[in-house]
Amino acid sequence: MEEEEGEEYLFKVVIIGDSAVGKSNLLSRYARNEFNINSKATIGVEFQTQTMEIDGKEVKAQIWDTAGQERFRAVTSAYYRGAVGALIVYDISRRTTFDSVDRWLQELNSECPIGPSPLLIVARSILPSGVGAVTVVFLFMLCFTALWVSHSDTTVARMLVGNKCDLGNIRDVSVEEGKSLAEEEGLFFMETSALDSTNVKTAFEIVIKEIYNNVS
Ligand code: GDP
Ligand code: MG
Repeated sequence: MEEEEGEEYLFKVVIIGDSAVGKSNLLSRYARNEFNINSKATIGVEFQTQTMEIDGKEVKAQIWDTAGQERFRAVTSAYYRGAVGALIVYDISRRTTFDSVDRWLQELNSECPIGPSPLLIVARSILPSGVGAVTVVFLFMLCFTALWVSHSDTTVARMLVGNKCDLGNIRDVSVEEGKSLAEEEGLFFMETSALDSTNVKTAFEIVIKEIYNNVS
């Protein structure tokens, strides 16, 4: 019992996706059970911290929201730094936001690399045959291996979120399309509505539980 007291988990989760897909409202619905018709009302919040219990342990998620900078395609590296979870959001009533998912995934993958470091692959491909270079290569490999080891357990829990599922009457992206993109990319998938609360809590909690599983 004594040793459990010292255990603390704090996970950074980022929400990304095109402007006006409902990122800020998903967060305000989850963290404060609030919804804002006027999107500008939610701009300016950097992150919200939510606590949940997993395996009897207190797990805190620090969930980051953009301040609207995605309109200028200028979400910074600082926004992604240290993130271990991500929700990639599109609007089921606007296909362009679904088309953008690829770009958001690319940005996420380059800012938060998953799996073996690409440097290791580079190191392998530049292995020279000359004997004189052996020492240099050995040192390089040592560095790359260290990098690889430090990266190998850096898995980012990712969920594709089709928001505004309350707008079924003007749906522009089918559930199947969302599902199959998620399958291709190895993401969790869920349709949500920040307006009527459908799946909002579930979506965040699946990501947070997956992060917990990844680290414990
Ligand atoms: P963000 O730019 O991605 O942060 O999007 P906002 O959260 O600011 O939402 C953009 C607009 O979409 C606002 O007018 C919201 O009221 C609206 N909105 C957000 N989520 C939903 C939803 O689930 N259903 C519907 N119908 N509208 C939503
Ligand atoms: Mg916003």
